[in-house]
Amino acid sequence: MEAKYIFVTGGVVSSLGKGIISASIGRLLQARGYRITIQKFDPYINVDPGTLNPNEHGECYVTADGCETDLDLGHYERFTDIQTSCANNVTTGKIYQRVIAKERNGDYLGRTVQVVPHITNEIKQRMLALGETGDYDFVVTEIGGTVGDIESQPFLESIRQLKWELGRSAICVHLTYVPYIAAAGELKSKPTQHSVKELQGLGLQPDVLVLRAEHELNRTLLDKVAGFCNVDKDCVIQSIDRPSIYEVPLCMAAQQLDQVILKKFGMEVIGEADLSAWHRFLERRVKAERTVHVALVGKYDLQDAYKSILECLSQAGTYNDCIVKTRFVQSEGLTPETVTEQLAGMDGVIICPGFGSRGIEGKIIAAEYCRTTDKPTLGICLGMQMMVVEYARNVLGYKDANSSEIAPQTPHPVIDLMEEQKGVTQMGGTMRLGASACQLMLHSEAHIAYGRQFIMERHRHRYEFNNAFRPDFEKAGMICSGINPDNGLVEIVEVPSRRWYVGVQFHPEYTGTVLHPNPLFVSFVGHMI
Ligand code: GLN
Repeated sequence: MEAKYIFVTGGVVSSLGKGIISASIGRLLQARGYRITIQKFDPYINVDPGTLNPNEHGECYVTADGCETDLDLGHYERFTDIQTSCANNVTTGKIYQRVIAKERNGDYLGRTVQVVPHITNEIKQRMLALGETGDYDFVVTEIGGTVGDIESQPFLESIRQLKWELGRSAICVHLTYVPYIAAAGELKSKPTQHSVKELQGLGLQPDVLVLRAEHELNRTLLDKVAGFCNVDKDCVIQSIDRPSIYEVPLCMAAQQLDQVILKKFGMEVIGEADLSAWHRFLERRVKAERTVHVALVGKYDLQDAYKSILECLSQAGTYNDCIVKTRFVQSEGLTPETVTEQLAGMDGVIICPGFGSRGIEGKIIAAEYCRTTDKPTLGICLGMQMMVVEYARNVLGYKDANSSEIAPQTPHPVIDLMEEQKGVTQMGGTMRLGASACQLMLHSEAHIAYGRQFIMERHRHRYEFNNAFRPDFEKAGMICSGINPDNGLVEIVEVPSRRWYVGVQFHPEYTGTVLHPNPLFVSFVGHMI
C-alpha cells in the first residue's frame, strides 16, 4: 500500500497536547496492524533544539541515530515503540540551511530563490521522504506552533499543496481548544470556529477536528462545530483532560478516531484495534496504591525540562505496582545545611543531567548525602559525573577533584574531555550523540536490572569518566560496571556496598516506553519498596 499522510495542526493556543494526539493516532493505527511513523516539523529557526535552553523549550530528546530533537519525538517513541531518526524532526532552520547550501552551489540555475516554491518544495520533499521508503502505511506529521503564527505559514502552504497533489492520500487533523467560561457556566466554541477559518483562509480544510476541553462537551456543541466548520459530524472528536496522558489513546479509540481516519482515506475498516497490552498497563496503573517519593536534583525548574525522566519514573512505578510522586529540588542553593531537610523524606533521588557549572556543587552535596545515608540513587550523565567527583573528593581524598568542564586546571580531572572533543569549538551537534553499546559486569546492579550483558543506550555529552583514575576508584569501592566494548569508556559506575547507588553516563530515559519500560528505572523504583 502507498503511504498515506496525516497532518496534525493546532489552533487557538499552544500546549494543547498535539504531540500526545499525534502519538495516539499512531498507536491506534498500529494497533490495527499498520506500519506507522510520526514526524515533527518545527517552525523555529534553530537547526535543531540541541542549542536551546531546557528552561525555555523543555528537554532535548536524542534519537538512536544521534540527532538532537524535539521532546515530542519522545512521546512518539513511548506510545508506539517505534524508533524515530534524524528524518523525523525537521525545523525551519534545517530547511533554510539546505536551500541556501543549494543556492550557493548554483543548483537553482540563476533563478530567484523564494519561499514559494523553493522553501515549500524542500518542506514537501521532507514531508514525503519517510513515506517514500516503502516502510510505512501511514506517516503522521505534526506541525509545531499554532495556526496563525507567521513562522508556520510555509508549512501550512506545503500541506495545502500536498493535499491537492495527493488527493485522498492526505488528510488534516486540527486540534483546538474549547474554553469554559466559569462566570457564564458555558463552553465556548467560537475560538475553534475562528481557528478553522484561519486555516480555510490558507486554503486548508480540516478533515477531522479534535476539541480539547476541561469539561465534557455535549453532542449539540460538537454538531454545531461540525456545521460551522464544514466537517462531518462523526469527525468532531473531543479530548477531555485525563489524569494520565496514557489514557488518551483509549479515549480516542472510544470515539473511533482510528475508524474515522480510515474512512476519510476511503479505506475499509476491518476488525478491531488490538489495544489489550495497553489496557493491561492502565489497569495495573490504576490498581497501584502505594506511593514512593523521588527527588529530582537539577537546575531546570520547568516541568518539560526532564520530561523523559518523569515519564520513565511514572512507567517504572506502574511496573512496580506503585505511584511515583516526584519533587523538584533546585541544585543551586543546596547546601550541607539544607540537604537533609530537602532529601530526608525521599525514598530515592535522581541526580539530573545538565551543562555548565551552575548548581554543580549542590549536585555533589546531594550525591554525598545519598551515598552516606544509603538512599537509592540514580545519577544520569552530569549526575553520574558528580557522583564520581564526590567519591573522589570524599572517599579517595582528592579534595580538588572535579570535571574539567567545571575546573579545567584541576590536578585531579576525574571527569575529562574526550580526546575527539578536544579542539571542537562549534556548539550544535558536536557532542557524543546517539546509541552505543555497553557491556555490563556480571552480577552488578546494572546487569541484574537489564537481565543481559549487552545493552544499547543513548548518549549526549562531551566529558567522560577518566580511565587514568579507574584503579583508584575500584580499590576504594566504586566499580565500573558498564564499559563500552569498542573504546573502553566507562558507561556505568556503582557502589556495591550501598543499596542501589548507580550512575550512568548515558541517558536511559530516552528508551523507556509504555509497553517496554527502561529496566534501570524499574530496578531503581523497585529498590524503594
Ligand atoms: N555537561 C556534561 C558533558 O557534556 C554532561 C552532559 C549531560 O548531562 N547530558 O559531559
